[in-house]
Amino acid sequence: NSIVLPELANDTIEPHLNLRPKNFDEYPGQERVCENLKVYTQAAKLRGKMLDHCLFHGPPGLGKTTLAGIVAETMGYQIKVTSGPVIERAADLMGILASIESKTILFIDEIHRLPSNVEEILYSAMEDMRLDILIGQGPTARTVKFDLPPFCIIGATTKAGAISAPLRDRFGIQEHLDFYSPESLTKILMRSAKIMNAQLENEAAFLLSTRCRGTPRIANQLLKRILDFALVSNKISIDCDVVNLALKRLGVDSEGLCIMDRDFLKIMKDRYQGGPVGLDAIAAALNEEKSTLEDVYEPYLVYRGFVLRTARGRMLSDLGKNHLDN
Ligand code: ATP
Repeated sequence: NSIVLPELANDTIEPHLNLRPKNFDEYPGQERVCENLKVYTQAAKLRGKMLDHCLFHGPPGLGKTTLAGIVAETMGYQIKVTSGPVIERAADLMGILASIESKTILFIDEIHRLPSNVEEILYSAMEDMRLDILIGQGPTARTVKFDLPPFCIIGATTKAGAISAPLRDRFGIQEHLDFYSPESLTKILMRSAKIMNAQLENEAAFLLSTRCRGTPRIANQLLKRILDFALVSNKISIDCDVVNLALKRLGVDSEGLCIMDRDFLKIMKDRYQGGPVGLDAIAAALNEEKSTLEDVYEPYLVYRGFVLRTARGRMLSDLGKNHLDN
């Protein structure tokens, strides 16, 4: 159990966070992914078979974990949650798999960070529902085969390209989650506001939806801070004025970029004349981990066209330059 993340040990996903949608109807956005998953879950139920292993990939905070919970709920499975970095040794994964019960989803977040010797154990577990355990060493070593009950792995990753081909190929269902449209984010914000007993005006929700980097997690975080500003300034209803004031105080600009996003662009413009420049150099200048820039900040800047990824390095686009100049 120590391997399963402590706060998620009771087979549930963040029970304290009631903002997470529990079913497909409460989950706006990612329409294509949801429609496909509805078909796959229904087909698995009709066949009376376990759902195929699923891989969800896309930038952080877009709802991969939430979707895993929804799939579990839809299938009537229990869910155990763990993550790549906490499974350090092969024995850790064997322990998890050996204790897995029938009709369980094992959700592995950041699956690209599984060490390769751990990954290899997953191959036979996923394909043959079997654990091959090597007992002893040298000439006396022997393999004991251990059958596993029907189970399903849902892997989530921000870096699909970092997953080895043999592991990736074992996921029968692979779905990419993309940034959300303002319309979907408005629905998410209105739902969150209702859960938090806040009066959020439609116009204000739409305004906020255009400033949260297409990401539900950021939308909900900003909404919580905006509620603080509204409360302290005695506003009962959250209108565009409150949203604008709070976003300004939070350093979120007209395109939804945060201070770090703008620093990323400024370094490219001021120190590297717009590039090309390597991510290592930008990370060193910003005093930030390269992986954080790559996973958290860069995808949205590339998605919006402020940064271009070229074979020679990152380039600041005209759009990026204009945004900094305005
Ligand atoms: P990470 O890659 O960092 O693990 P993730 O992709 O797994 O992130 P989640 O943890 O599922 O993202 O979602 C982040 C937050 O955004 C959750 O609290 C959830 O409530 C909310 N959220 C995500 N997608 C949706 C959605 N479609 N509708 C409503 N809320 C959502």
